[in-house]
Amino acid sequence: MHRERIAETSVGELSGEAIAATAGRVDDYELPDGSTLSGATMLVCFLADRKDTRVGKGSQIDAGGGIWTVTGVHLADGGEGWVDLESSGLRDITLVSPADLDFLFEEECDDCYGRSGWDGSTDMRLGSLAVGLQCTECPTKMWVIDGRIQRAFEGGAPEFTPGRRA
Ligand SMILES: [Zn+2]
Repeated sequence: MHRERIAETSVGELSGEAIAATAGRVDDYELPDGSTLSGATMLVCFLADRKDTRVGKGSQIDAGGGIWTVTGVHLADGGEGWVDLESSGLRDITLVSPADLDFLFEEECDDCYGRSGWDGSTDMRLGSLAVGLQCTECPTKMWVIDGRIQRAFEGGAPEFTPGRRA
């Protein structure tokens, strides 16, 4: 289980996606079944596509390819509240074998420090090209943006080669 706390007026990362918690207040919010509750809420903003949504305890958001459930919202004067979220990981992510990954791009897993490699996926994150890496020791996927990746793609996308440097 992954847990994150995003403080009000700051930016956190959920499954590699930048999410800002912008304004807490008592308000109505929606549960996954479409019903509405009233209580402590936080406005969360998806920075990549500038969408925002008001969440409260029990709300779910889809961030970075994972489903995150709000486990609590704390309100405090002066914008010093926070929102707590947890996720059981990315949807449809199962443990992969190193033979299915390309270690042209390789990182330590954010979660277990295991070895993770490129699964062939790419996406745009915060205006930059990101590559998707999966861990070989736990079902975790993360998106990585760094200068090395930008350079690797400059002359055309590298061919995804499962098992490379495995
Ligand atoms: Zn891992």
